[in-house]
Amino acid sequence: MTEPTRGETVVAPAVPDHPPATDLPDLQPFWDAAGRGELVLPRCPECESWQWYPGPGCPCGHTGEFEWCGVRGTGVLYTFTRVERAFLPGGSGRPYTVALVELDDARGVRLVTDLVGPGSDAPRIGARVTLSPSVFDTHTLPTFALVGHDEEAAPR
Ligand SMILES: [Zn+2]
Repeated sequence: MTEPTRGETVVAPAVPDHPPATDLPDLQPFWDAAGRGELVLPRCPECESWQWYPGPGCPCGHTGEFEWCGVRGTGVLYTFTRVERAFLPGGSGRPYTVALVELDDARGVRLVTDLVGPGSDAPRIGARVTLSPSVFDTHTLPTFALVGHDEEAAPR
């Protein structure tokens, strides 16, 4: 494959547009809660550290099941990126903002999500965010929105 020259349109192989895999057994509590507009995360029952993304065990040595615990869904925007063009052919809903959110109730967890609502096109790192689920035909995503965003305020 040759490198495209500047300004040339590149067509990638067709990839089906599909929802996230919400039927993985290890993540069922997460998606069940998301469907109710809630957020739950796995926590080690021995050392009480949060484990996101859930793995086969905890660094403390615990190898059994994790507890799925509810969190308030409030936090801080750690960082973000703005997607202006479709990542995959046929992608829709552009532009949008992918966010990395630090949760108040889950120390050490940074959740990859989308930032939605007013001001999501030009957020400020460190801004307060809150859970604001986005409902689709087949699933609900635990997306976040800016807290107290003033539409009149100039974006930074
Ligand atoms: Zn542990």
